[in-house]
Amino acid sequence: MKTPIKLKVKPIRNGTVIDHITANRALSVLKILDLPNQKNTVTIAMNVLSSQMGSKDIVKIEGRELASKEVDKIALIAPYATINIIRDYKLVDKGKVHLMNKISGIFKCPNPNCITNTDEPVNTKFLVIEKKPVILRCYYCERIMEESEIEAQF
Ligand code: ZN
Repeated sequence: MKTPIKLKVKPIRNGTVIDHITANRALSVLKILDLPNQKNTVTIAMNVLSSQMGSKDIVKIEGRELASKEVDKIALIAPYATINIIRDYKLVDKGKVHLMNKISGIFKCPNPNCITNTDEPVNTKFLVIEKKPVILRCYYCERIMEESEIEAQF
C-alpha cells in the first residue's frame, strides 16, 4: 500500500483560494485572471483527490481578490468552483461561482457565417442552455458551444 504524500502548503495571508476547479482547468483559470503577467504569488494544485468531484484543481493567489467579471468567466469553465476570500489568514467570504443566463461580448461565435462575424456592428451574445457542464447557444445563429470550445477562447 502506498503512503499518501502530504504536501504542506503555506496558508495565505491575504488573497483568494479558488477550490473545486474542474480537473486540469487551473491553467485556464490563471489565463482568465491574467496571472502570467502579474507579480502575485500563485500556488497551483492539479488533480487533487476530491470526494465530491473525483479530482479537482485548486489555485491560491496571494494579494488578489477577484472582480465579479472574472468570477463570471471562471464559472464558464469551472462551474463547480468555490471562491474563498482570505484576509489576515481568516476566511472572510466563501461563495460558489454563479453563471449568468446570457453572455455578451466575451466570446466569438465559432460559426464563420454568423452575423457577429460579419462587418455588421453586432456584439456576440450567447444563451446559457446548460450549466453543468456549460453549454452555450449563439443568440443569432444558434450554434452550440461546449466547455472545451469555450476554454479554447481564453
Ligand atoms: Zn453565432
